[in-house]
Amino acid sequence: MIPYGKQHINQDDIDAVVEVLRSDYLTQGPKVPAFEHAICDYTGAQYAVAVNSATSALHVACLALGVAAGDYVWTSPITFVASANCALYCGAKVDFVDVDATTGNMCPEALQAKLEVAKAQGCLPKVVIPVHLCGHSCDMAAIAALASEYGFYVIEDASHGIGGSHQGNKLGSCCYSDISVFSFHPVKIITSAEGGVATTNNADLAAKMGLYRSHGITRDPHKMQRPDEGDWYYEQHALGFNYRMTEMQAALGLSQMARLNEFVAARNQLATQYHQAFVDLNLQWVTPLENSHSAYHLMVALLPETLDRKAIFNAMRDAGICVHVHYFPVHLQPYYQDLGFAEHDFPHAEYFYRHCLSLPLFPALTVDEQHKVIATLRDLL
Ligand SMILES: *Cc1c(COP(=O)(O)O)cnc(C)c1O
Repeated sequence: MIPYGKQHINQDDIDAVVEVLRSDYLTQGPKVPAFEHAICDYTGAQYAVAVNSATSALHVACLALGVAAGDYVWTSPITFVASANCALYCGAKVDFVDVDATTGNMCPEALQAKLEVAKAQGCLPKVVIPVHLCGHSCDMAAIAALASEYGFYVIEDASHGIGGSHQGNKLGSCCYSDISVFSFHPVKIITSAEGGVATTNNADLAAKMGLYRSHGITRDPHKMQRPDEGDWYYEQHALGFNYRMTEMQAALGLSQMARLNEFVAARNQLATQYHQAFVDLNLQWVTPLENSHSAYHLMVALLPETLDRKAIFNAMRDAGICVHVHYFPVHLQPYYQDLGFAEHDFPHAEYFYRHCLSLPLFPALTVDEQHKVIATLRDLL
């Protein structure tokens, strides 16, 4: 079976993890801050807080921004459920902004229209979480302009996007947002097995996310609220969690950072080859905005209305090609239907879902494998 995505692990990665296993620290050692520094250097963000998943990163990001009961958080319905769940963890209410039907990314016009209504009703969101689907940046300049006009915070869910850029700014630089989040799950651009990071340019937000990552506990002598009792003493200042990243994970992530640009270049080249192979058939692709460079996490085709997506999906799988669908709209999940969302609430998202098909795309995809994917799909079209 040709998978739709797969990690790329080399001897350097293995050596980096083994070195940690032989060292004194398996957690809370020097590798996590080294990985955080590498993320800052790469993205240009001032602070990075590494945690055990992007889901945890989204949670501590919401907490740091003060999301709580009574608040609204808006995100995209075309995403992994974690982008919405983070708000529910904080006791807030979730709502969705419809996507652009050709990109699957949050539509700035739909956002503006929804903000107008919310303003009139006095229920503006505290945070909006745009998701860079496929690694293609949302129109962040437009979303940032709305953020300052209507006064909400922005968390970029850049789980798909490390290595990409928008208007010359790296995703994760937080040029257009308060916080950005990356995922290092094995199918994403680089991996730490499980892991995530939140970047920000705000020292206070970074400190809060660092606190929530580890039980709300600080050992910083300058921050103690009571007299220091001695070297064993620490204080809990907030209700935090154990969301720490291990040293093995950080060492793997750090080692993978060395090949990030190579991975992104390989993904872009494969994407170009897919585009070229279907020009004569006029196949519609989900593509990045003009002023963006994508990390190309996903290669998504939008199949024409006349074709049976399920039949094509099954035929590809039968041929040993693990195509996928990203994503079943979050508002149609039974859990979210119980919260009051219904079919037809976000028509562009539902249209996108019905037509999208993700093809295999990962740096180790061979020429032969890609030819097989192309030939099989061409036959079916
Ligand atoms: C993968 C993913 C997440 C969650 O990442 P984890 O590291 O697995 O927690 C969140 N949002 C999006 C868009 C994702 O693709």
